[in-house]
Amino acid sequence: LASRRLFSKDYRVFAPQNFSDYEAIKQLYRPEVPEYFNFASDVVDKWSEKEKEGKRPLNPALWWISNKGDEVRWSFEELGMLSKKVASLLSEACGLQRGDRVLLILPRIPEWWLLNVACMRAGLVLIPGTVQLTAKDILHRLQASKARCIVTNEVLAPVVDSGVSQCHSVKVKLMVSESKREGWLSYKDLFRAAPADHRCLKTKSEEPVSIFFTSGTTGSPKMVEHSHCSYGIGHIISGRYWMDLTPSNILWNTSDTGWAKSAWSNIFVPWIQGSCVFAHNMPRFEAAAILDILSRYPITTFCSAPTAYRMLVQQDLSSYKFKSLKHCLSVGEPMNPEVMEQWKTHTGLDIYEGYGQTETVLACGTFKGMKIKPGSMGKATAAYDVQIIDDNGNILPPGTDGEIAIRVKPTRPFSLFTHYTDDPEKTASTVRGDFYVTGDRAIQDEDGYFWFVSRADDVILSSGYRIGPFEVESALIEHPAVIESAVVSSPDPIRGEVVKAFIVLSESYKSHDPGELTRELQEHVKKVTAPYKYPRKVEFVEQLPKTITSKIRRNELRKKEWEKA
Ligand code: ATP
Ligand code: MG
Repeated sequence: LASRRLFSKDYRVFAPQNFSDYEAIKQLYRPEVPEYFNFASDVVDKWSEKEKEGKRPLNPALWWISNKGDEVRWSFEELGMLSKKVASLLSEACGLQRGDRVLLILPRIPEWWLLNVACMRAGLVLIPGTVQLTAKDILHRLQASKARCIVTNEVLAPVVDSGVSQCHSVKVKLMVSESKREGWLSYKDLFRAAPADHRCLKTKSEEPVSIFFTSGTTGSPKMVEHSHCSYGIGHIISGRYWMDLTPSNILWNTSDTGWAKSAWSNIFVPWIQGSCVFAHNMPRFEAAAILDILSRYPITTFCSAPTAYRMLVQQDLSSYKFKSLKHCLSVGEPMNPEVMEQWKTHTGLDIYEGYGQTETVLACGTFKGMKIKPGSMGKATAAYDVQIIDDNGNILPPGTDGEIAIRVKPTRPFSLFTHYTDDPEKTASTVRGDFYVTGDRAIQDEDGYFWFVSRADDVILSSGYRIGPFEVESALIEHPAVIESAVVSSPDPIRGEVVKAFIVLSESYKSHDPGELTRELQEHVKKVTAPYKYPRKVEFVEQLPKTITSKIRRNELRKKEWEKA
């Protein structure tokens, strides 16, 4: 193994598939970042050539279905050709120039994929947004990013128009729709007329390619800027060794188009490996529909958020057969061991957890072939030197709770974000000593596995103990009454703070006496985890506040608790 290189010159991984020694892979990970890199020409078009040479299985590059029965299957060649037309449309008909910023707000429709690749071809900086954004959110994004172009559909075009007059940077409005609207260019018309001979721009590796707004779990969303090589090359490890992808695989990643996770797993991660991206234009999360699709289509690899898995295991899983499914993944929030166990009981499959941020590629993960320790988010990826550090930037020994950090000195990893756009202070505030600090706390064990404790702001300090909400939430979910919960600090005159749990009950427990149920759950937590962590306060709620990316907004609950006091 040691004598082999991990990557070919054109970034396709040829390291052995069945490896058992991730440490050896780490030693081999020395990607050379070229002066010029563009994902469209260096990856998508390379796979198209392979296809023509008969060196790729007959697997589409994109396989899209709608709930109305429509279907699209594009090979890399078709994806290449169609995205060239869109690149011509953007640079010629729309007059956009290298470096211009494009806010793209579309649901999961095939054009979303074309526009992603086209922007790379044309050297434009893509800013994805979710269709759930309100008029105020869109205006904020347009103003903050100084986008020159907005692309959306007929549903959101009037919403954009209601605020766009306050936004002078916007010069081009492009609508992806069968209908027409005054003041908007018609994507469909321009697409028909656009030539397919666009020549991909020769972009520098470090040139900006995208700006993502973060989920806004802890405050207002930040603008995270990435370069062409960052996700474009950096996701090699996530694709090959975490998602275990090859050109024969079909990956379904359920995240919304507006988030970095969608760029990870709907574009970069699978296509670097030449895999097929499966997509469904699901307007909202429906557990039964997801299970139905997983059983009807030859999807081999499934990635979703822990919230989604929590909902999926509430369904009658025994009535489905997932014939092709081989590998399941979760990222975005900590995954409860109880949910992993339930999923495994019914599907026979483990859930491989990953950890990362909009700012990073996958930073930790349970990589294929590695022993899974439920509740842990696996080991550090080869892409970074990940450490647990203290408030002064010193590396902490195993078993100590500290902040997750990525080494940036002497060399900043190319697969880390460039900066927060127009916010040098915020960017500087994330560097401590030799490290970029993630704002998340964890413990690393003797074997190098990371155990998520909480976001730095979510730690509960009670009578001198530091308590991470995740452990308490995972203890609670082991009780059949609990579908999910959010654990936060609540003020207490004696202890300063105490643990409070907001709990969503399963149907059959809703009629139980709340006082008795509270005591039962408290006793349960005392039994399954250290007793001092049990929730002294419990409140039953219908649902938990979440971000559009479906992350629990503990800070909102915490704020209310403290304001109440
Ligand atoms: P904001 O930065 O605006 O508050 P956000 O941090 O939620 O929002 P993202 O970049 O979408 O925005 O999410 C990254 C965060 O998600 C991580 O910093 C971490 O807190 C959480 N996260 C991701 N994966 C995991 C995981 N496996 N276990 C625990 N937490 C995770
Ligand atoms: Mg964040």
